Amino acid sequence: MALEVKNITKRFGGIHALTDVTFRVEEGEVFGLIGPNGAGKTTMFNIITSMFPPTDGEVVFSNKRLTGKKPYEITKEGVCRTFQNIRLFPDMTVLENVTVGEHCRTKSGVFASVFRLKSQKVEEEKIKTKARELLQLVGLGKYEDTFADNLAYGQQRRLEIARALASDPALLLLDEPAAGMNEKETNDLFDLIQKIKKLGITILLIEHDMPLVMRICDRIAVLNFGEKIAQGTPDEIKNDPHVIEAYLGQE
Ligand code: ATP
Repeated sequence: MALEVKNITKRFGGIHALTDVTFRVEEGEVFGLIGPNGAGKTTMFNIITSMFPPTDGEVVFSNKRLTGKKPYEITKEGVCRTFQNIRLFPDMTVLENVTVGEHCRTKSGVFASVFRLKSQKVEEEKIKTKARELLQLVGLGKYEDTFADNLAYGQQRRLEIARALASDPALLLLDEPAAGMNEKETNDLFDLIQKIKKLGITILLIEHDMPLVMRICDRIAVLNFGEKIAQGTPDEIKNDPHVIEAYLGQE
């Protein structure tokens, strides 16, 4: 269940967003992807989830090639993500936002046949039960009937994570989950990531909040101008002169 990112290069016209980036995320670890603005971190997520193809290189998860698959097929392979900017359905309830995520993986899906209404109903109940469990996990159990738009910012971020978890990922990609959070919300996020890790889900984390990154990650890779400049444990990264010069020195 390891993620292998092999020699990924991505160019947008003349922009070299990523150049020959290779790393491997082991099953069960929290792996951080850090670096200055524009370093290519989100581009890497977009390539892993096949939102667009790499110019060169390939991504393999659990010994299966993800590169070349459609984004919905990536979800079925057990890889799910959140986005840098919150993408909830604001006019749907908290519970509905999570059940949408579950429909991505269930057989009935949103296009269920009307001839299978009875089994669909049973399936719907199962989906709701699981959605409620996920809302408990992320600390939003009592908000299931609230419209997503009415949640506080940190709660909306946690709802996004619940929705991503609803498709049963083996690998969860989190794109700056702590962005805009206050200290209490960041601490709650730390606890939540720990809980997700304990469920056996591997996590690839993009984050600018360095205290959080250093506390939560098992290993970290650092990108700068699209190139990997370092990889190691939090202690190794903190003390790497190239990383200090390119990124940490600015914090
Ligand atoms: P941040 O920390 O600010 O989110 P990042 O490390 O995630 O930055 P990316 O968003 O991956 O960086 O951007 C890397 C480079 O690729 C930037 O120069 C960006 O402008 C460029 N880029 C990203 N997506 C596209 C696109 N769809 N079309 C053209 N250029 C793009």
